Amino acid sequence: MDYEKIAELLYPDVKLSVDDILKRYPKRNLSEGQVVTRFAPSPTGLLHIGNFFQAFISYNLAKNTNGILFLRIEDTDEKRKVREAKAVIYEVLERFGLKFDEYQTLDGKDIGNYGPYVQSQRVEIYQAFAKKLVSVGKAFPCFCKKTEGKEDVLKLRENKFEEDDEKEYDPCRDLSYDEVKKHIDNGESFAIRLKTKNTGKERIKFNDLIKGELEAKANAKDFVIVKSDGVPPYAFAHAIDDTLMGTTVAVRGEEYISSTPAHLELFEALGFKPINYCHNPLICKIDEKTGNRRKISKRYDPEANMMFYFEQGYPKESVLEYLLNMINSGFEIWRKNNPDQAWQDFKFGIHDITAVAPIFDLVKLNDISKNLIARMSGQELYSNWLAWAREYDKELASVLESDSEKYIKLCQMDRDGAAKPRKDIYNYAMMKEYFDYIFNAPTKYELDESDIQNAKEFLAEYGKTFSMPASNEEWFAFVKALAGSLGYATDNKAYKQNPDAYKGNVAKACEFIRVAITGRKNSPTLYTIMSILGENEVKVRINNFITSLTLGDCPKK
Ligand code: GLU
Repeated sequence: MDYEKIAELLYPDVKLSVDDILKRYPKRNLSEGQVVTRFAPSPTGLLHIGNFFQAFISYNLAKNTNGILFLRIEDTDEKRKVREAKAVIYEVLERFGLKFDEYQTLDGKDIGNYGPYVQSQRVEIYQAFAKKLVSVGKAFPCFCKKTEGKEDVLKLRENKFEEDDEKEYDPCRDLSYDEVKKHIDNGESFAIRLKTKNTGKERIKFNDLIKGELEAKANAKDFVIVKSDGVPPYAFAHAIDDTLMGTTVAVRGEEYISSTPAHLELFEALGFKPINYCHNPLICKIDEKTGNRRKISKRYDPEANMMFYFEQGYPKESVLEYLLNMINSGFEIWRKNNPDQAWQDFKFGIHDITAVAPIFDLVKLNDISKNLIARMSGQELYSNWLAWAREYDKELASVLESDSEKYIKLCQMDRDGAAKPRKDIYNYAMMKEYFDYIFNAPTKYELDESDIQNAKEFLAEYGKTFSMPASNEEWFAFVKALAGSLGYATDNKAYKQNPDAYKGNVAKACEFIRVAITGRKNSPTLYTIMSILGENEVKVRINNFITSLTLGDCPKK
């Protein structure tokens, strides 16, 4: 067969030889154990948590082995606005602090010697390899039209090959030079297919770094390695890129396991040593409606999109720690034993990565985040909250800025210096509603109906005599004295022995104040809340409460 002549006919303009290319990509100089790995996202417009999970695993593998991490944009399938979609990926990676050793900047500058790091700029390289494979008879042009349905192609195949379900040879696999020339002279476009060497009976074994040895049916399909638009699909592009770029470990989703036999045949046809794959399990979720486990999906789960975490104002460490927890459950114990260490100090290797699909659980993330935020100082929390608001709630940002002292105090509440800081805040988006009583006077009150009369009477006196005390103790002494003078027990023992002799105890009186000021029976330290609001606002709220109660605006509990 005139394979070389066919190759020349197909690619007269491809002058670059495979040898030239191989020279351009010298072997990396690595020391023992150093991992070269990569994150290879396709720009689809969002960064999915599953992809980010891989990026984060790769990042850690490189970091923990003093290795190399590069970013490769796989945009050969992407006809849409690649630049914007790329920008989203870069933004997420940068905001989470995932730094790459090699990548292409958004304005097109390659950092590193193994570029270009964007696949659409590597078409010439792919075509040179395709030409080479055709020239040695390992690949061939296919002129079947896209418009020809699968049925037609199957028919064509049936006519050419014996009925054999096991292999999927393509009708064009043995076209002669003259036949190819006829198509080309007709101006027909062509795809390039790998000429599989298998018959459909073979099985192969391959090693996965997470799952161990796997066995599968060997590829027996003449699959497309260059599409009719001249650009390769994932399989061909990644085999060439990972080889040229010196990848030693490729972390990718387990959905690629089924096509690994085809990929391995490609490596062999290209004369490449196969790379080590590490197929990570996909992140799952328990479906709220069915209760079944399913893949986390960008269609149904807002948390599948990494932007969600910025929008909701999760500290980036909360998300990263949660992901670490999913990668290796040992992280949780490590964190408990090392509460003050940075997550970066938690080291893991390839074999420590979970082989079981992790279940995403927002409650668990919130839990991790609560602990993390509880360790922030009030000033830090305020700054983070403000930074979030500047991006996602401008109105709130100007309120926070208008009285920074007040809002810093709010953030410090039950935190700085507290023996047990409150663990209640898990993101910045929840804070406005959570502290609603600071921003807005309550309009609804959480109070038992049987308490209305007493509350009204007590608060009328409280409102008249209240002035902002200098300390919690001073304030409490004031409440105690007032409550005592109005028929409340100041001694709990006495109250317990004969509750009917009193209107209630001091705790009850405090509850009235708390409800009037915050609308709720539970809140952080009341004295602090009052000092944040200021004497005037406290009085206004007490008055509001009395008036609105008269109006009957009191929801039953
Ligand atoms: N572009 C592929 C994806 O986003 C990359 C797979 C890989 O990492 O090899 O799924």
